[in-house]
Amino acid sequence: MADFAGLVTLCHKLEETPARLEKLRLVAEFLRALPAADVATAVAFLTGRAFPPSDPRALGVRWLPAVDELTAGPPLGFGDVASAFAAVAETQGPGARQSKEHLLRQLLARASAGEREILARIVGGEMRTGVSDGLALEAIAQMAGASIGSARRAALRLGDLSAVAALAVTGGAAALAAAPVRPGVPLLPMLAEIAADVDEVLAAHRGRSALEFKYDGARIQLHRDGDRVAVWTRRLSDVTRSLPDVVEIAREHLGRAPFILDGEVLALDPAGRPLPFQELMRRFRRVHRVDELVRAMPLALYFFDCLMADGRSLIDEPYELRWEALAAVTGGRYLAERVVVTDAEAGRAFFARALEAGHEGVMAKDPRSPYEPGGRGKRWLKLKAAETVDCVIVAADRGSGRRRGWLSNYHLAVRDGEAFADVGKTFKGLTDSQFAEMTSRLWGLATADDGYTVRVRPEVVVEVAYNEIQKSPTYPSGLALRFARITRIRDDKGPGQATTLAALGALYEQQFATKGRAV
Ligand code: AMP
Repeated sequence: MADFAGLVTLCHKLEETPARLEKLRLVAEFLRALPAADVATAVAFLTGRAFPPSDPRALGVRWLPAVDELTAGPPLGFGDVASAFAAVAETQGPGARQSKEHLLRQLLARASAGEREILARIVGGEMRTGVSDGLALEAIAQMAGASIGSARRAALRLGDLSAVAALAVTGGAAALAAAPVRPGVPLLPMLAEIAADVDEVLAAHRGRSALEFKYDGARIQLHRDGDRVAVWTRRLSDVTRSLPDVVEIAREHLGRAPFILDGEVLALDPAGRPLPFQELMRRFRRVHRVDELVRAMPLALYFFDCLMADGRSLIDEPYELRWEALAAVTGGRYLAERVVVTDAEAGRAFFARALEAGHEGVMAKDPRSPYEPGGRGKRWLKLKAAETVDCVIVAADRGSGRRRGWLSNYHLAVRDGEAFADVGKTFKGLTDSQFAEMTSRLWGLATADDGYTVRVRPEVVVEVAYNEIQKSPTYPSGLALRFARITRIRDDKGPGQATTLAALGALYEQQFATKGRAV
């Protein structure tokens, strides 16, 4: 067992070294010199955790009690600290606070001033040594002589750095590269990029795409291994205790465990209509008197992926095969509505059907793609119903090619007090004759011309459709419209009636009223 004092020395060195590479070297060297049994614990401590993230135990305290006396004895080892933390976590029920403090005092009595300081930081969850999870992962890769790529991949599958470290120390680079998916260890969910329309989807998926309803609920990952069932949210919080009805479905109605399923859950009112997301969150947070809420707020489940069936990892298999496995595990129940399309017309019809049924849109998945935990790309695309805002044209770029001679790329702005704030550009939506007309109209409003962009008095209002509002690092407004296109020229509106930046900000926030940051 390594001395805990070694970690104290390392932390001091790290504090004195601003250089990232040097920090990395120090951590890798430290890990390499540790006995194998201490590496996982050391990684947890180094990243400010009493327990690894996938360990459900928690200390239940954020700071240490005061102690004066220092008891003479053998030096404190990693294992001593780990077992003291375990004992503190296990202490529950009435009087737990005093018992926890007592246990911590016993630990502190054996610790030097330097050790106490580092223990306090671990308990407080903040090491202040500049060792981020990313740096720790690189150090683990270095320790094992593995590539950062295989360490990252292992981290995604194992779900926590300590597990990666333990695997690296026992099996080296080869073990990291072959890190298994395990029931009971949540994987980061695969995410989607936004697409403009069905044509873009079909092009990205080489002519064939699986479209599914995009349900407006919350993401869940359901694991079963024998009798053990667990449910995680998109952010990998464990909500098993709050969802006994989902647990029961997993036990009674789904077959072929061990399995891992990916899906969306919706809360329903007693009449079976979907409830707002906030209501669903009440369900997720409830840990006492859960049964009452289960009765008052039943859930609807829609699974759309299967990451493990029959104990076999499927994440490297193509979507199509995973869907077959999903159909087998669920017996065809609780599945997302879906269709595989090869032509845009059929795709648009399905999209229209999704919107009519009250859903957010559709998800489009490349039938040949593997499941990439935590990945966001074109293999999964989302198509959402367009929204519109009213923007003012504040400038226009000269067109090129077929649009030569026209002012054809319009800078769109929203109202910000007396001024106008840019939120996007578009050359989409106008017919040729509208381009010609708009060009002469804008020349009449021109205030400056740098040979490429013509600035104009903010007078022309246009209705602009977009699929998403994003945070923008480039526009001072901080917001940008994704896939903006002009849907109407609003001659009935003056610039004073354009959408305000505040309203756009509210629309941006509304996008998260449903999901994302809240979960
Ligand atoms: P967004 O949050 O807008 O990026 O959309 C992605 C989210 O849509 C996922 O994280 C899921 O929670 C949700 N979703 C609903 N239906 C599906 C589906 N059929 N496939 C994948 N994700 C879905």
